[in-house]
Amino acid sequence: MNNDAAERRDEDCVFCKIVAGEIPSERVHEDDQVVAFKDLSPQAPVHVLVVPREHRADVRELAHQPEQLAHVVAVAGSLAQKLADGDFRLVFNTGANAGQTVFHVHAHVLASGELAEGEL
Ligand code: IMP
Repeated sequence: MNNDAAERRDEDCVFCKIVAGEIPSERVHEDDQVVAFKDLSPQAPVHVLVVPREHRADVRELAHQPEQLAHVVAVAGSLAQKLADGDFRLVFNTGANAGQTVFHVHAHVLASGELAEGEL
């Protein structure tokens, strides 16, 4: 975890714990800015979450970091290419009334295709 992520950590946040490796997840990608892992309750053959390492509540906050937001979208696109046929839905549930349940911004990447066991 880089220093910025450590500084922006929320001790009660499940995705901060996943980023830190304190809660297990099936990671499909990681780099210095984001971690991507399989959703626990997949809604499509490929359903992964792309999560910035730094804690921000939702995409409205992430919009103040346009390079990070662009990187989340780029990683979503490359994962859809790798794990499916390249086409995908990108969903940011934003706010409780829109169905957001984890208040650490995450992009749902939903696509058809097979996610091979252990594939990175
Ligand atoms: P939201 O409703 O947009 O906030 O999405 C939260 C997503 O996180 C849901 O699709 C959950 O299935 C998923 N989720 C919650 N906890 C975990 C976990 O520990 N690992 C993987 N996915 C999780």
